[in-house]
Amino acid sequence: MIVVVGAGKNGRKIRSELFDEITEVKIYDNDRRKWGSLIDGVNVISLEELIDFVEEPDNSIIVGENSPSLIHFIKDLNPACKIFEYKNAGLAELNMSCIEEFKYDNAMELGQKRIKDYIIRMQEYKEEGKQEAYEHAKKFIEFKKQHPQVPEISSIEMTNNCNLACPNCPNSTLSFHKGYINDDVFEAALKYIPPYKNDTVAVHCMGEPLLHPKLFHYLDKMARIGTNICISTNGILLDDNIGDELLRILSCTDNSIMYISFHTKKSVERWYEFARKYDRCPMKNNIHFFGQVLEHNQEDAYKWLNELGISEPDNHPLIRHITSHSWGGNVENRRKEYSNIEINNRIRNCYYLRKRKIAVMWDGSLRGCCYDSNATQKCGSIFDYENADINPRGYDICRFCDPDWITNYQ
Ligand code: SF4
Ligand code: SF4
Repeated sequence: MIVVVGAGKNGRKIRSELFDEITEVKIYDNDRRKWGSLIDGVNVISLEELIDFVEEPDNSIIVGENSPSLIHFIKDLNPACKIFEYKNAGLAELNMSCIEEFKYDNAMELGQKRIKDYIIRMQEYKEEGKQEAYEHAKKFIEFKKQHPQVPEISSIEMTNNCNLACPNCPNSTLSFHKGYINDDVFEAALKYIPPYKNDTVAVHCMGEPLLHPKLFHYLDKMARIGTNICISTNGILLDDNIGDELLRILSCTDNSIMYISFHTKKSVERWYEFARKYDRCPMKNNIHFFGQVLEHNQEDAYKWLNELGISEPDNHPLIRHITSHSWGGNVENRRKEYSNIEINNRIRNCYYLRKRKIAVMWDGSLRGCCYDSNATQKCGSIFDYENADINPRGYDICRFCDPDWITNYQ
């Protein structure tokens, strides 16, 4: 029997090009929501089934090209397993004993590569006459040339206070002190936002960003230096004026994102009202906007949507479905025990670790990822940014983090 890894378009290409009969093949995918389902009539097996599968000597695995992490994952499961790489429309068997240790990105090389991208971005700003963004990019590139290895900012927490207490969130039991970002911390962080072309900078980690009284002032400043913003809100405070103001600011950016998570009925109503405003926005192509159905209260969310006349949320263009992550294992009643194989797989695929990203907390401390809501793994301070660092091999908290959220459903 053969398993093709990946339920997405790469896996489909491999299956369609190599197999006439679906009975010959099964699929494995990291997205546990697909386990047990049929895709194009092919069964998607679970992790437990994959573990049993790789133990059988006659079984083989096929992975797509350039999947080093996947190959290490299979090797961790069974170093004697037969594994083939699909490359140039053919299959090449991999010799497991020759596969070297997983290569984590080199911080200096990654930094140097990014500088090249930032120089291109800076030139674009110049051509577009975006003087403030150009000046910011120029200063940042000078800094980056001096400190290419420094991890880069992926989020700036406006506050870790919230006006809800959701069951999928440790906010109400946080041991980290609570507060709101102030001008000193914000200005220090703003200075180090890279001139990303496609990446965004989120203004949430823990907490509800719309609670911050100076949110728009800060967002304005980010937009002026060319930052693409990501804002995720529970929508409770999103009235008409706030909706207008958000659209005004996000319209000035090239590629921003806004999410309203369906935590309550009010959240769904706010999404519904905002969606109409968004539809009329002349710059809506610059803003990716979605309401988010969360896994833990999907049934409620569907009921609330139904009351607004939305009977097919699965097919709605402004709705997406996401799993409810466990904030690095900080949510009660969530699985906390994982095998080393799962943990290593997660670390190799983690967005923050792989891309050397950090989050700025409201008090200016830096942490390795925005799920570390109690800041158990500090990576420095925004006031000493040159010396910030991450550990690409992960932190203690990574042992408890959800694999399916982190591995991006490889
Ligand atoms: S999940 Fe979001 S909205 Fe809910 S309590 Fe946590 S921070 Fe607040
Ligand atoms: S806890 Fe670790 S694995 Fe999880 S998101 Fe954070 S850095 Fe990544």
